[in-house]
Amino acid sequence: MSKKRRTAINPKRNENYPEWYQEVVKAADMAETSEVRGCMVIKPWGYSIWENIRNTLDERFKETGHQNAYFPLFIPKKFFEEEAEHVEGFAKECAVVTHSRLEDDGSGGLKPAGKLTEELIVRPTSETIIGASFSKWIDSYRDLPLLINQWANVVRWEMRTRLFLRTSEFLWQEGHTAHATKEEALEETLKMLDIYTDFAKDQLAIPVIKGKKTESEKFPGAVSTYTFEAMMQDKKALQAGTSHFLGLNFAKAANIKFQNDQGFEEYAWTTSWGVTTRLIGALIMAHSDDDGLVLPPKISPLHLVIVPIYRNTEEQKSVMKFIDELTVKFSKLRYDENKIRYKIDTREMRGGEKLWDWIKKGVPIRLEIGPRDIKNNSVFMGRRDKAPKDKSAVDVNDFSDNLISYLDDIQENIYQKALKFLNENTVDIDSKEKFFEFFTPQNQKELEIHGGFARSHWCGDPLCEENIKNKLKVTIRCIPLEKRQDKGKCVYCNKESDQRVIFAKSY
Ligand SMILES: [Zn+2]
Repeated sequence: MSKKRRTAINPKRNENYPEWYQEVVKAADMAETSEVRGCMVIKPWGYSIWENIRNTLDERFKETGHQNAYFPLFIPKKFFEEEAEHVEGFAKECAVVTHSRLEDDGSGGLKPAGKLTEELIVRPTSETIIGASFSKWIDSYRDLPLLINQWANVVRWEMRTRLFLRTSEFLWQEGHTAHATKEEALEETLKMLDIYTDFAKDQLAIPVIKGKKTESEKFPGAVSTYTFEAMMQDKKALQAGTSHFLGLNFAKAANIKFQNDQGFEEYAWTTSWGVTTRLIGALIMAHSDDDGLVLPPKISPLHLVIVPIYRNTEEQKSVMKFIDELTVKFSKLRYDENKIRYKIDTREMRGGEKLWDWIKKGVPIRLEIGPRDIKNNSVFMGRRDKAPKDKSAVDVNDFSDNLISYLDDIQENIYQKALKFLNENTVDIDSKEKFFEFFTPQNQKELEIHGGFARSHWCGDPLCEENIKNKLKVTIRCIPLEKRQDKGKCVYCNKESDQRVIFAKSY
């Protein structure tokens, strides 16, 4: 073991994981809690990550034929009531608008007035209101498929807030599509799941397991829900996004019908799919370390930051000139089809302080440039995927020549580290005893970090699933799409099973 070093984040991950998480968010200046309970303020550094997520996904949605549109924030209650499972699933977390104005309450305050004849629900998701539009937009099979996406905010009333992971209001995209056949709708559901998982791997550097949710874990109103699950560094699962095959359920509720090519009327098959600002929570928990945020270059608001070092105006002049020449060289480069995103940090504070600031913000590459570097025609480079002290001088021309490969290398390193962690902590467990042991912390220190993903046999009985959930707070995260031919016995009841599923504790 190396000497103990003071880390930028206190407590460390293995001391108190939830608190470590909050501290990383704070140190990177990404978001803060708001005066409104359950809601968050996303600050520029956090929002810029969201913009990068949004831009990349938006491009991929459009490449696959989807168009963006916007639908109202409010949903008439009657729309909601038309799909029984849906309303039941969301009833407990709906914000309801009952009045339309405020008036003087006679004692210096205000009271709500103008009671609405029909109450409105602040959208927790938009299947019902978008369905109402679809029923007007679709007449014939020629109108299909209808492929729509919306970027919006939604509200699901939560009392316990964790920035990015669980908030009453969050940002997301929700795709909604309608198709002439069941096969097409199913194909769309899985296609979007693939777009998400490729995005998670390529951009966020997060390896995921994709699969199907069990009946008890699926989206309220869906026929089937597909999910992709990521492992956080406390070995818990995080559902990173979902894609739902809605069958005819919402078409029947909203009367989405079309005339087929034989002239007969049919209901359309619909899907919906979404990811949220929760992905930022996943990004933080998958990669960050005891010095703060670690960002994969492809999603980082900045690829590199340059910290000029000088003692007087004369040195300042030559350092800034040297930096200008350097930036001209790499501003022609493209990384992942984007310009190099960089910042020259000229704030009036100590160089060391600046560097730590960028370490905590997770910027992939830090450059220090001072008079000595100019003399050697070099730059002093630190990489966020390596230890803070692990820095080296690089010839200035080599730096611009190799910048893209440095970024690629950092992106790949971050991914491989997360993949190794996922693989090391995903284990086949075949005995009930071992299963319980796996998910039961042995001591106080293990309370936050223990377990992992158990790949175990399940007979398919919801009762086994429920018992495990009640006893261990462990759920079936998904039935993996990648199936191994492997017969065995249910880890809970010992009945025959022909499928292994992923069990884990989750966010
Ligand atoms: Zn069983």
